[in-house]
Amino acid sequence: MSSSPAADVSSNPVPGAHAASDREIALPEVKMHIYRPNEPVVARVVKSEICTSKKAAGFTRHVEFDVSGTNLSGQVLPGQSIGVLAPGTDAKGRPHAVRLYSVASPTGGEDGTGTIISTTVKRTIDEHWESHKLFLGVCSNYLCDLNVGDEVKLSGPNGKKFLVPSDAAAHDYLFFATGTGIAPFRGMVLDLLKNKVNSRVTLVMGSPYATDLMYDELFRKLASEHANFRYLTAISRERQSDGSGPMYVQDRVTASRDELVPMLSNERTLIYVCGIAGMELGIFQKMAGVLPKGVLEQYLKVDPAAMSDVASWNRKMLHRELKTTKRVFLEVYS
Ligand SMILES: Cc1cc2nc3c(=O)[nH]c(=O)nc-3n(C[C@H](O)[C@H](O)[C@H](O)COP(=O)(O)OP(=O)(O)OC[C@H]3O[C@@H](n4cnc5c(N)ncnc54)[C@H](O)[C@@H]3O)c2cc1C
Repeated sequence: MSSSPAADVSSNPVPGAHAASDREIALPEVKMHIYRPNEPVVARVVKSEICTSKKAAGFTRHVEFDVSGTNLSGQVLPGQSIGVLAPGTDAKGRPHAVRLYSVASPTGGEDGTGTIISTTVKRTIDEHWESHKLFLGVCSNYLCDLNVGDEVKLSGPNGKKFLVPSDAAAHDYLFFATGTGIAPFRGMVLDLLKNKVNSRVTLVMGSPYATDLMYDELFRKLASEHANFRYLTAISRERQSDGSGPMYVQDRVTASRDELVPMLSNERTLIYVCGIAGMELGIFQKMAGVLPKGVLEQYLKVDPAAMSDVASWNRKMLHRELKTTKRVFLEVYS
């Protein structure tokens, strides 16, 4: 876990803050589906590099695409995704379906002009459930195999809801990521820090081992340079760097409650969760354990009957007994 001095931003609970959870939060107008999967655009790979430690058990790459001269240029925001069309056909002889990959670049792209966009892709490698032969995911391995100079067919952008608000400076941000769910936060953190909005930004990144952390060096550097940025990690299969025991991403809510509870109690704060489907439930359960009721309901409206047995909450209850407010942004995938 790396640390930086706490930001000099008031984190006291705001009296009468209840209405904040119902307030509409204006998001930027974004372009979507400029290129459809059946009419993709050709981009060129300009960078492909491992973005974890080289000792990581999995293989995750940061891949950059040159989209200059296409209508994607300058039109792709972090929080959106792009479609990738792998060549070839599936078992039924149809062209491979499009796969979505979250944008990891900031609004200005990697180059500041919006012509280089990026994503974070993890190779899907497994055993076939029935035949126990090697299973290689089609598109993730295609993308990771691409070399600098190779062409790739892209569609999109997709998504208009998982975005930093238009008035970015009006909010503080608590980002939770697991796996490649870090991608949008790379772009968002770079945007927020570059634009010097002075918002308080806390990123919580969960991974099985410290070697799996993506862009770890970048986030540590940013945390050491910007007093308003905190980078907290949660390693689930080994001890933390400070010697404390293994923890999942949601356990950070409890372990770092001294700084996260005041932050969550501030009506400026928004929560973003991106990564493995199901992670949001654990985060909500931990929040229910540490937040006063009035603060919890700023983010999550809980059916009173469910409040008595938080440990038994399950994913089916999401959007029913557990309803997120406008201050929570979710982008989870399996
Ligand atoms: C909005 C969104 C954003 C995303 N962003 C990212 C991102 O930034 N980075 C990223 O890496 N991924 C991301 N994904 C996931 C990505 O779209 C792909 O699903 C992922 O890369 C796997 O695709 P693939 O073609 O490699 O695997 P596929 O060939 O599609 O194989 C995966 C599928 O095969 C099946 N399968 C898995 N294991 C086995 C097995 N052992 N035996 C038999 N069948 C099996 C499963 O049904 C699984 O759905 C995102 C998804 C969404 C919806």
